[in-house]
Amino acid sequence: NEDQFKKVISHAKEYGYVFQSSEIYDGLSAVYDYAQNGAELKKNIRDYWWRAMVQMNENIVGIDAAILMHPTTWKASGHVDAFNDPLIDNKDSKKRYRADVLVEDYCLKIENKIEKEVKKAEKRFGDAFNKEEFVSTNGRVVGYQEKIDSILKRLGQSLEKEDLADVKALIEELEIADPLTGSKNWTDVKQFNLMFGTKLGASAESAMDLYLRPETAQGIFVNFLNVQKTGRMKIPFGIAQTGKAFRNEIVARQFIFRMREFEQMEMQFFIKPGTQKEWFEYWKETRMKWHLSLGMGEENYRFHDHEKLAHYADAATDIEFRFPFGFKELEGIHSRTDFDLKQHEEFSGKKLQYFDQEDKESYTPYVLETSIGLDRMFLAVFSNALMEEELEDGKTRTVLKLPAVLAPTKAAVFPLLAKDGLPEVAKQIVEDLRWDFNVIYEEKDTVGKRYRRQDAAGTPFCITVDHDTLEDNMVTIRHRDTMEQQRVKIEDLKDIIKKEVDV
Ligand code: ATP
Repeated sequence: NEDQFKKVISHAKEYGYVFQSSEIYDGLSAVYDYAQNGAELKKNIRDYWWRAMVQMNENIVGIDAAILMHPTTWKASGHVDAFNDPLIDNKDSKKRYRADVLVEDYCLKIENKIEKEVKKAEKRFGDAFNKEEFVSTNGRVVGYQEKIDSILKRLGQSLEKEDLADVKALIEELEIADPLTGSKNWTDVKQFNLMFGTKLGASAESAMDLYLRPETAQGIFVNFLNVQKTGRMKIPFGIAQTGKAFRNEIVARQFIFRMREFEQMEMQFFIKPGTQKEWFEYWKETRMKWHLSLGMGEENYRFHDHEKLAHYADAATDIEFRFPFGFKELEGIHSRTDFDLKQHEEFSGKKLQYFDQEDKESYTPYVLETSIGLDRMFLAVFSNALMEEELEDGKTRTVLKLPAVLAPTKAAVFPLLAKDGLPEVAKQIVEDLRWDFNVIYEEKDTVGKRYRRQDAAGTPFCITVDHDTLEDNMVTIRHRDTMEQQRVKIEDLKDIIKKEVDV
């Protein structure tokens, strides 16, 4: 819900995970910076993906292609004419996709307006106010809500132009400004260029128009043959990549869910034509297993199989995750046939074929793609981890239950008191553990306060050095999730932590 989402955003800032970009200049819309803890969490998610996809698969290799590519790339990919979304297969429905995003935003604005009306009434009626009763007896509000609900339910599936008209009528009635122009006169939905343009070259005359890539996939397609030959790869094989992508999204909101600069983690799997059905099933299952391995709750994931397919795709599904604002796409798995390689063959005039040694034949491989947004995964992990827990003594604690393998800091080491030689021992433990994990030293405030701060920051272990430590070389290790404390030998710390944070 919305409150939970607000908490996620403010917690991300307060604990050094995500800041608005250029905040001192009031920020840049839908662009964010990862802070000291966020950069670590993001890196850990990326590594977790890379290990599962590249390190653990003999037939998948990784590359790191440039963000800038030859401009013809985007003609071949279909991005130059209009943004080519896999959901969409003709110009008209492309418009409809943009309308989808707008409609969703409009609905949100209407909901905000309703919320305001409820608040106003609350003020007027004071203590006697009953929100449920007001909402259910106020016909206007009920009508709006029903309409919005029915439209939102169909979003991304069967949204029609009339829905947009409906929402627009509502918006006009409520006198809400157009989010695109800020005016009360409505613009029609237009075709937007979602790619950011830039120029290569010093002088204006000789400069070449370039684009910042809107997806990482094309860097893999154009390198297909280079990798296959130099890596002596045999089909089936995959090429994986993580990297920045840029989209000039029209309505970019929902924090790091939809950004203008974001990072993708993609893998293109090159297969023999005719085997795509099996590989589609294989990657669906394999990717879902990867998600479930983080232990974030099976009930928070679902597949959304696409009914409408792009003309080149023969199967597509999304892995959706339960974000604070509902189930939304986290990862896409697409069976793309030979569309991309064929397009690049046509536009480059070069053959991108594979010679099958066993079958003694050449063919253009089919492609199975898995594509996940790193920032969206970050939001999934972070929002799922943040919780308020009731404690036995009636108090509550805020705790960020990040999977230990992803946590930015694995352990915080405290001296019980900042004297009597305890800091020296604690600092030595930090120095010893530093070789294997991110660990920090902390001596400010009471131990109770330090625990709470580390709980909220997501640190899985706290280690406390006390006076007994000086005698027995043992420390207290506290587990973030259970708050259980154990007395253990200093020399065993490394193994204890390793057991939890290693995959
Ligand atoms: P959406 O429908 O949400 O715009 P999409 O279908 O356009 O996403 P793809 O082009 O399939 O997305 O990109 C693959 C993945 O990249 C998505 O599943 C998502 O996780 C991520 N992604 C796409 N656009 C953005 C964005 N603007 N900000 C953050 N992540 C994004």
